[in-house]
Amino acid sequence: MTLVALSRTLDQELAAIVRGASLECLVCGEFLLHRADAIACLECGCELRAEEASAGAAHVTSAG
Ligand SMILES: [Zn+2]
Repeated sequence: MTLVALSRTLDQELAAIVRGASLECLVCGEFLLHRADAIACLECGCELRAEEASAGAAHVTSAG
């Protein structure tokens, strides 16, 4: 798999999460907690902000 293909796959995964089609954390695979402003993983602390994702600038941040 090329880096571009991997990035595209991640984009699709993120889009699926934002739409609510996917409920699993990309990092650890645990269930995600859907909040009003963001989607967060309680297990590993990563967070996906819905507003950024819908703007096409989706990225996962880790709280460490
Ligand atoms: Zn996680």
